Amino acid sequence: MKKVPSWLSASLFVGAVGLLLFLKRRRPPRKSVESKVMRTERNVAVAGLAALSLQLVERPAIQPLTSLVQRRGWGLLRAVRLPAWLEVVLAVVLMDYTLYMWHVLMHRVPFLWRFHLPHHVDLDLDASTALRFHAGELAIATGWRIFQVTLIGVSPLSLSVWQTFVLLSVLFHHSNLRLPIQVEQKLVRMFVTPRMHGIHHSIEKEETNSNWSSGLTLWDWLHGTLRLNVPQDQITIGVPAFQNPDEIKLPQILEMPFVEQRPTWVLPGNGQPVHAMRPVQTNRLLP
Ligand SMILES: [Zn+2]
Repeated sequence: MKKVPSWLSASLFVGAVGLLLFLKRRRPPRKSVESKVMRTERNVAVAGLAALSLQLVERPAIQPLTSLVQRRGWGLLRAVRLPAWLEVVLAVVLMDYTLYMWHVLMHRVPFLWRFHLPHHVDLDLDASTALRFHAGELAIATGWRIFQVTLIGVSPLSLSVWQTFVLLSVLFHHSNLRLPIQVEQKLVRMFVTPRMHGIHHSIEKEETNSNWSSGLTLWDWLHGTLRLNVPQDQITIGVPAFQNPDEIKLPQILEMPFVEQRPTWVLPGNGQPVHAMRPVQTNRLLP
């Protein structure tokens, strides 16, 4: 197999969105702030531009690069002879780890944060947030993708498997799905889950600066950035500087990276979000 057939990844995507829309009719883990219809329309518009950016910038650069990497034998995974299936598994794991690094950079480097901010100012979290990335963020990420693919030695097949995995994972962990807590406590040992990623979208800086993984939880665990002890009903989603829904409509979201930046972690009126004491150990997921 040269790559995951597009009919398969497309049906997985449509199936996952359908399933999440169906399941989230039940009680979500957090109360929503904005009206669903308006918010979904806006997120779908941002996502449409994001998809265009992927088609115009990332795809034409990365797909031919994976063929070149394979032909020339570049990258870590080409240095050793591996069974084909193991090479795909390792490529997906290493792509996932280097995506963790990229996510940390997006938060830590002010220039990159400008482009990741439009994703974080959403006042609610559901599967539509998963697709709501600024087109500029995805265009810039192509530079990092070139680095990942060349360093790791990612083949066209491995790339398509990773892309399918990461898309399904991102849809899942941004969703409003309320899994039974015992199920999610088991699942989170391996994979990023909705409650875990909800903590990353909190307006508290210490909470946002945790749970950076996008697929496997392993990376946050290894780097000591895993934080699970936050009850979902105590989380306010968003960033402190943008709490007013009127300031984060579609035009403001699109121009956000290019205008003067407000201090992200200060509430309007200069306060800081009140930091609650959380006595439970950080690696235990709460309801
Ligand atoms: Zn983030």
